[in-house]
Amino acid sequence: MHDNRRLHLTTPILEEKGFSASVLDALSAHICVVNRDGTIIAVNRAWLEFALSNPPSSRTGVGSHYLEVCNSARGAGAEDAAKFAAGILSVLSGKRDLFELEYPCHSPSENRWFQGVVTPLKHRYGGAVVSHRTITQRKLLEFELVKLATTDPLTGLPNRRYFMSWARLEVERKNRGGVSAAVVMIDLDHFKIVNDSYGHAAGDEALRTFTQICKLPIRKIDIFARIGGEEFAIVLPGTAEAGAMSVAEKLRHAVRNAPITSGPLHFNISASFGVSEVALGDTGIADSLRRADRALFAAKKAGRNRVTGYSSLAPARSRVIEARSKNTPKRK
Ligand code: GH3
Ligand code: MG
Ligand code: MG
Repeated sequence: MHDNRRLHLTTPILEEKGFSASVLDALSAHICVVNRDGTIIAVNRAWLEFALSNPPSSRTGVGSHYLEVCNSARGAGAEDAAKFAAGILSVLSGKRDLFELEYPCHSPSENRWFQGVVTPLKHRYGGAVVSHRTITQRKLLEFELVKLATTDPLTGLPNRRYFMSWARLEVERKNRGGVSAAVVMIDLDHFKIVNDSYGHAAGDEALRTFTQICKLPIRKIDIFARIGGEEFAIVLPGTAEAGAMSVAEKLRHAVRNAPITSGPLHFNISASFGVSEVALGDTGIADSLRRADRALFAAKKAGRNRVTGYSSLAPARSRVIEARSKNTPKRK
């Protein structure tokens, strides 16, 4: 229930000289008031202090044209600044009653994020009130949550969910413009025996070392992920099957020859690789992965510690493999 009597009682206080300015100065948000053409006509203490500690302060003081300041921003924040200027304009022109934008505003010493809010000033002066407040803590928490949801904690690699969502884009790219991409599926050999022989902690160490070895020759644009227990996958954008085969062969060789150390234990592992190109007409990354998995199955059958390309599978043989892999979920 509104208490109108109370609202009326507060009005004279608000109109008392200096009272509104004191309220504005008590707020932690950085606040400025712009007139109808976007010139700053008032700022609060927090705005002033922020401007002074983030030179050039003269550009955002009273009398500056805030829209011009935003539109003349260059470098990393230029796009957001232009969006913010457009938001202010949309409020000034009466197109909207509220504009909000979250944006990074990093200083040389720290990463910061702010939320900017613009609302119309319902006063005979017209114009708008612009406020910026820090949201760095919340943003860092959000990034942490995204990281937790998309990263495998043991190896630090992207997890299956992340892999599937990014790899999907390569299929779309292939179908749109014919740009090649290849997928490599990797399964560590006899990993159950590794665990049984050296213990689970040594197995974990092997997974971590394997990850570090494979990361070295892989480009930044490739997506290398842990998609299951001892199963990994790579998407190589702009790469045909032959190119992916030679990357996989390099990895196979490096993995085979890298000693794993876990406390006093030293041992070696190996991995099998199945390679397939993303094909025109694939409806999703699952199609490409299915072919790579068939090639991987063939690599296992042929003795493990090897790389097999899907195109090398004879059509009749690949049908048998396909039928078998449907009936036997476990590769043995
Ligand atoms: P294959 O050569 O046919 O792939 O044999 P495999 O023993 O590797 O295959 P299998 O699927 O029988 O066993 C996989 C093993 O990987 C069993 C499981 O305990 C182990 N594993 C899966 N995830 C982890 C993990 O996070 N840490 C450890 N230490 N072991 C894991
Ligand atoms: Mg496996
Ligand atoms: Mg295995």
